[in-house]
Amino acid sequence: MASNSSNRLLVLIILGILSGIFLGGLIPEAGRAVSFLGELFLRALFVMVVPLVMSSMIVGVSSLGDVRQLGQLGGRTILFFMTTTGIAVAIGLILVLAIHPGVPLENQALEPSNESAQEVSQRMEDKPTTLGALLKTILTSMVPHNLFAAMANTEVLPLIVFSLMFGGILTTIGEKGTIVIRLFEGINEAIMGIVHLLMWVAPIGIGALIAGRLGEAGGFAGFWPQLQSLGAYAGTVILALLLHGLIVLPIVLRFLGKQSIPAFAKVMSAPLMTAFSTSSSSATMPLTIDSLIEKGHISRRTVSFVIPLGATINMNGTALYEAVAAVFIAQSYGIELGLGETIIVLLTATLSAIGAAGIPEAGLVTMVIVLKAVDLPIEGVSLILVIDWFLDRCRTTVNVWSDAVGAAVIDRLEGGRENP
Ligand code: ASP
Repeated sequence: MASNSSNRLLVLIILGILSGIFLGGLIPEAGRAVSFLGELFLRALFVMVVPLVMSSMIVGVSSLGDVRQLGQLGGRTILFFMTTTGIAVAIGLILVLAIHPGVPLENQALEPSNESAQEVSQRMEDKPTTLGALLKTILTSMVPHNLFAAMANTEVLPLIVFSLMFGGILTTIGEKGTIVIRLFEGINEAIMGIVHLLMWVAPIGIGALIAGRLGEAGGFAGFWPQLQSLGAYAGTVILALLLHGLIVLPIVLRFLGKQSIPAFAKVMSAPLMTAFSTSSSSATMPLTIDSLIEKGHISRRTVSFVIPLGATINMNGTALYEAVAAVFIAQSYGIELGLGETIIVLLTATLSAIGAAGIPEAGLVTMVIVLKAVDLPIEGVSLILVIDWFLDRCRTTVNVWSDAVGAAVIDRLEGGRENP
C-alpha cells in the first residue's frame, strides 16, 4: 500500500476512534445503536481466520524447502515468546509489589455479589483449573479429532498443527503435491485481497466497537466510577503494560529486529487499534498478517508462521495482567505472598496466558489457574470483573504488538529479507 494511502487510513482510523469515544461517551444510547456496525466488522474479521491460518501455514511450510528449518524457526519463535512473556510478568510483579494497589477490605466488602460469583463460575464451566489440567488440555487440543469441527469452532492451535503436517507432506509427494500447494496459494491470495479491502472499513468498525462498548458501560458517566473504584489496580496494570509495550518491546525491536521503532509502529497502527477495539488477538490476526507483509516487508514465510502461532499462544499483556490481578486479589484479602509463592505466580501466569485463547476476556478465565496455584480465593475474580472489559483491550493491544515484534526479530534472525 502506498505511503500516502496508509497515512490516509491512519488518519481515518484515529478519526473513527475519536468519534467512537465521543459518541459512546456522551450519548450512550447512540453508541449502543451503532454497535451493530462494529459487530459486522468483527464478524468479517473472524470469518477470515480459519482459511487464512490454514492457507498461510500450508503455503509457508511448503516454501521452507528443508523441513529441518521448521525446527529452527519454531524453536526461535517459542524461545522469543517465552522470554518476552516472562519479562512482561516480571514487570507486572515488580510494579504490583511496589505500588501495592490492593488494600485489605472489610470482610463484608469481600463477599462477592451473587451475580458476579455466578458469572465467574459460569465462565469457568468445563475449563481446566489446574496447571496440569491446562497443560493436558493444550496438548490434547493440538491434535484435532475432527478437522471440520476444529474449523467450525475456530480452534486455531489444532489447525496450525494439522496445516504444518499437511503442508510438509505435500512437499514430499511430487507433482500432485505441487498442484495442491498452488491451490492454497490461490486461496491465500484471495483471502489477503479481502483483508485488504476490510482495512478500509476498519475506521468505521473500530469506532463503532468503541462507541458500543462505552455506551454499554453507560458512557463516561458510567465508566468513570468503574475506573475510580479500581483506579489503583487498573493504573498498575496499565503502567506495567505501557512499560513493556513502549520501552521493553521497542528496545528488542530496535536491537534484535534492527527496525526503526516509529516506522514499525506506523506499520502496525491499524492492527493495534483493531486489537484495542475488538479485544481479540485472533480477530486482529488477518490485519496483522497483511500489514507486516505488505507494509512492513517482513517475509511472508516468517509472518505466516509466527503470527498465527503468536496470536494463539503469545500473550505478553495477558500474562502480565494475570500476575498483577492475582497479587492484587491477595493484597485485597490481606494475604501477603512470600518469595516462593511470587515465583509460582510468575510461572503459572506465563503458562496460563499460553492457554488463553485470543478472544475477549479469555485471560480472566485462565487466571483462575494462577489463583489456585497459590491458594487464593477464586471468588476474588469478582473484585476485578467490572473493569475487565477495559483492561482486556489494553492487554490485547500489547499481545498483538509483541507478536509483531516477534515476527520482525525472528525474520531478521532467519535472514528473512533474502527469502521473501
Ligand atoms: N483478549 C485477549 C486476546 O485476545 C486475551 C485475554 O487476555 O483475555 O489477546
